[in-house]
Amino acid sequence: MGDIGENIKSVRGEIARRAAAAGREAGDVVLVAVTKTYGPEAINEAVRNGVTDIGENKVQEILDKHGAVLPVNWHMIGHLQRNKVKYVIDKVKMIHSVDSFRLAEEIDRRAGQAGITMDILVQVNVAEEESKFGASAAEAAGLIGEILEKCGNIRVRGLMCMAPFAYDPEEARPYFRQAKAMFDELGKSSHERLDFRYLSMGMSGDFGVAVEEGASMVRVGTAIFGARG
Ligand SMILES: *Cc1c(COP(=O)(O)O)cnc(C)c1O
Repeated sequence: MGDIGENIKSVRGEIARRAAAAGREAGDVVLVAVTKTYGPEAINEAVRNGVTDIGENKVQEILDKHGAVLPVNWHMIGHLQRNKVKYVIDKVKMIHSVDSFRLAEEIDRRAGQAGITMDILVQVNVAEEESKFGASAAEAAGLIGEILEKCGNIRVRGLMCMAPFAYDPEEARPYFRQAKAMFDELGKSSHERLDFRYLSMGMSGDFGVAVEEGASMVRVGTAIFGARG
């Protein structure tokens, strides 16, 4: 699996090069190291190498590892079932995968009980793939409007998207471009709980292209920790 520290350095180098190529600062891009299937030792090694944010796609993995690692910001990046919101509400800094009002409502309720405001991203399915979760481009504006109107304990921080799987990362570019256009458009509205800062897109295979197209958060697993077993 190689050396986690070296891998992080090379991912950060690639982020910096791609950001510079697009006239952006490397510091504008948050690296979320995706640790699914990897244990506390790997996570701690990443944290010791400067990683501040980690992502998990399953509630159970967050619960298993949360108490066993160095302080770090946790991100829920996978599909979240409403009945599991209560387990992660006080453990994660951000939920990237909000794709329905019913889920938002439950996050709002649990955040209220916990006395916090939860930062969320709305997941958009830009390619409209049947197999992926996420609101369609047409639904996203309505969903955000409804959240802002009715969910006083949620702050909407931006969008998350996944490009369709492809061997050539260039194939993801049009989807990332479309997501950035949506992000710019939706971020224009003004509301005290709308603070559009984060466009979460790009994974190990395509984060360079995502950064060029305006990602402000990339979610990288394999390129840091190695292939999952
Ligand atoms: C696993 C996962 C990633 C990271 O994927 P890699 O290809 O290992 O970098 C990013 N986002 C989500 C939602 C994931 O589930």
